[in-house]
Amino acid sequence: MKNIIEIQNLRAESCSKLSGFLRIGATPVRPVELPLTIINGKNDGSLVVITAGIHGTEYVGIATALDLIKSLNPANISGALIIVPVVNILGFEQRSKCTVPIEDDYNGTRNLGRLFPGRVDGTLPHILAHILFNQIISKANFLIDLHGGDIYEYIAPCTMVYTTDNKDLDQKMLDAAKFSGIEYCICRSFRGQEGKLSVEALKIGIPSITIESGDHGVIDESKVNLALNAVMNILRYLKVLDGEIKQYRPPKMLKDLVVVRARNGGLLRTLIPLGSTVSKSEKIGYIQGWSGEIVEYLEAPVSGYLIQWSCNPSVTSGESVAEIAIFY
Ligand SMILES: [Zn+2]
Repeated sequence: MKNIIEIQNLRAESCSKLSGFLRIGATPVRPVELPLTIINGKNDGSLVVITAGIHGTEYVGIATALDLIKSLNPANISGALIIVPVVNILGFEQRSKCTVPIEDDYNGTRNLGRLFPGRVDGTLPHILAHILFNQIISKANFLIDLHGGDIYEYIAPCTMVYTTDNKDLDQKMLDAAKFSGIEYCICRSFRGQEGKLSVEALKIGIPSITIESGDHGVIDESKVNLALNAVMNILRYLKVLDGEIKQYRPPKMLKDLVVVRARNGGLLRTLIPLGSTVSKSEKIGYIQGWSGEIVEYLEAPVSGYLIQWSCNPSVTSGESVAEIAIFY
């Protein structure tokens, strides 16, 4: 982009790549800052923001963002990219699943993925969301938010799109899902999803897509490659990255996610692998008791695609152990 991009004290000239930090606040003993890279392209075009690590133990998204920072060359970019490879920096540091490991007054720790657009008069997690949203996200023409299964779950790779009443906006996001090359897309209304970054971006007119790849606290390089190829092709579709757009078949479309809960505590044993198509009432797993007996079969509450399994076999009564996505 011909213009200089300025964020706090960072200034990225045209055709340059600049890494630095976004100041958020401080713990009692040190500053809290988010790593940030601006890739300002050679030519004018859209500004795409890529975020990862809103859940700080979803490592594949974080690795994907770092590989994008490493490999993208501003000479091949029209427009600009702002990449934040780990938003929940404190969660990453503390290996804290899902939440920011800072007490939100007397509300315990909070899922940062439900706190957008944040509050300037809130506690640190709200301030973090507010600064990220107002100083970076609000400038974007398109947002790509990288997620995956957290450390407690296995998840089948998919994209997520939240639809609005704006047909042009929705089509742009559905096209991005198609050009991601990822086989499954969960497509739901943005209503009732307040606080999610993608949804709050949509409310101010910024199209967005969430990519879910990787899970259970490890970096599977094939899942990094899947997400990396998806992002690169979406960037080509948005005319931000040079090169020919790869063509893929449209994804298999999924709607609501239905949770499978265990009524009994015990040891989770699975019968059906992740990524299978299941029928309503099909036995997908069971809970084993301390005499080795089966205390409960887990049955699919609906027909659909088995998209998530808990990866921890220690189960408490009432706990969510799987999710099934329903086909359109
Ligand atoms: Zn996540």
